[in-house]
Amino acid sequence: MLPQLPQLISSEICLDCPVCCRFPEKQATLSPFFFPSERELVETSHIKAKGSFREPAMGAASKAQLVSCGHGYACSFFNPEDHTCQIYEARPLDCSMYPAVIMHSADRQKVFVGADTKCPALRRPDVAAKLKEYLDSIQRYLESTALSSLIRQYPQFISEFQEEVVEVRELSLGKA
Ligand code: SF4
Ligand code: SF4
Repeated sequence: MLPQLPQLISSEICLDCPVCCRFPEKQATLSPFFFPSERELVETSHIKAKGSFREPAMGAASKAQLVSCGHGYACSFFNPEDHTCQIYEARPLDCSMYPAVIMHSADRQKVFVGADTKCPALRRPDVAAKLKEYLDSIQRYLESTALSSLIRQYPQFISEFQEEVVEVRELSLGKA
């Protein structure tokens, strides 16, 4: 299991927020990505979760399946009744590092990490004050040998360029 990262934003704020875990389309490309070890943890753990994965093979890298929810779609591991994640302790890095996101540059020549301004909490002064330090720590973590080699092996973890991502810094993921 990949280590869980410290949270930039408290659970109290997130539980009142309508943004995370919900998507406008069923095939949304930004649905959460699970490395094989992360998926295996969910599939083999005692956690009773109703969610599923797009990739049918057990233990394969995969995005979470999205299901109809209100006027759009939600991660199938999301509980719309209380806005919680059914697999919170085993949620993937993709979710635990948010609002930090990893993405390609517009020309796909570089890889960046930055903060997604779709997260309304970034406008809070207390969160904004900690953002640079948080992104520095995420950058160091993603550039660590184990993670950078995992990301090179599973480049699907890297999303496409998103204009609304700010405070971007280039990631050095080493060579294959
Ligand atoms: S968008 Fe930001 S505040 Fe809202 S749930 Fe996600 S991380 Fe929390
Ligand atoms: S795995 Fe959990 S935290 Fe991640 S999108 Fe799904 S419900 Fe949200």
